[in-house]
Amino acid sequence: MIETLAAPSLAATTASRERLALYVHIPFCRTRCTYCAFNTYAGMKARIPAYVRALQREIRLVGAAAERQLPALSIYFGGGTPSQLPVPAVGQIIEACREAFSLDPEAEISFEVNPGDADVAYFAHLRRVGVSRLSIGMQSANENELRLFARRHTPDDVPHTVHLARQAGFTSINLDLIYGIPGQTLPMWQRSVHHALRCEPDHLSLYSLSFEEGTPLHTWLQQGRIPVPDPDLAADMYDWAADTLQAAGYLHYEISNWARPGHVCQHNLHVWRNQPYLGFGAGAHGYANGLRYETIADPATYIARINAQREPLPFPLSAATAETLPVEGREAMADTMILGLRLLEEGVDSAAFRARFGFSPHEAFGPALQRLQRHGLIEETADGHIRLTRRAYLVANRVFVEFI
Ligand code: SF4
Repeated sequence: MIETLAAPSLAATTASRERLALYVHIPFCRTRCTYCAFNTYAGMKARIPAYVRALQREIRLVGAAAERQLPALSIYFGGGTPSQLPVPAVGQIIEACREAFSLDPEAEISFEVNPGDADVAYFAHLRRVGVSRLSIGMQSANENELRLFARRHTPDDVPHTVHLARQAGFTSINLDLIYGIPGQTLPMWQRSVHHALRCEPDHLSLYSLSFEEGTPLHTWLQQGRIPVPDPDLAADMYDWAADTLQAAGYLHYEISNWARPGHVCQHNLHVWRNQPYLGFGAGAHGYANGLRYETIADPATYIARINAQREPLPFPLSAATAETLPVEGREAMADTMILGLRLLEEGVDSAAFRARFGFSPHEAFGPALQRLQRHGLIEETADGHIRLTRRAYLVANRVFVEFI
């Protein structure tokens, strides 16, 4: 409810002077995958035109709420399935971002797509409206795993989709993969990674399968209908993939992400640096002006609230904002440590941390840092970057709790 929203404090407004990343949530899918807990809905295609209009309206209202036009460095279309959108709608949303914010001419514009969903004409249109990076939900190269997930594509759809995207001129392509799947063996995982590498992606995201409450996979696990994955085997899968991708020339720059030189995802990098980003659309999250906020999840309610909004609200809120959480002081410092430590090469830059908060990480978290260093879980580079050691990659959560 809007009445419960907290107005941003003056102390928090420094974040608004920095560049923003823009996230656009598209909560529509043709079918639901069995592991998915994202805010997304099947069978709602008829709502897409009204949703796209509401998105443009929300973007303009939030942009108008800022004291001046704020610079933005990226747009990320996530979901859901953004490729459910007709291309003119993608162009209209990007245009709304350009009008509401000062979008960098070199802005990275990422777009998630499912294998087999788009043809070369669709990709060529995306290029024309400014999309510069694709993220393809490959997940696995094993038919039985794709069936378990209720994915609609086959392993062969992935190289075909990459080929079409390259034909249309895309030079930055990510593939998402999942490991730690019930019944998955190391050779099955290796097959998926090799299949992905044969597609020559510029970026790879490897996620450990999580069993989220409310998903069919979670229910089946509870009922004993699928085997519980062995965490040690999942750790071996991760280690093997890290070595293999490094040998193939990919930089392991974030716990779950690898990139060829020049292909680090700028949008996510910005978020991991705990810099401000705006979330547009049903269920989107954002962080700006010292507030973390979440938008109402239901698309119909989202559309109705945005349509009923007449005036801009205090930046970065809209009439569809459902929850806000002020994040200041020690909490903002803790977030910066936890997010920054996910960046394996860069880590947390002590000088930038001090410039932002007035304290160094050692002044803010001295005992925790000493403990972690003693246990060999973090290290500090000669130029003052604090980062995880390799043995901490798989137990990063143990490190993160030290800052909470
Ligand atoms: S396509 Fe993606 S967002 Fe949609 S249900 Fe499957 S995993 Fe979830």
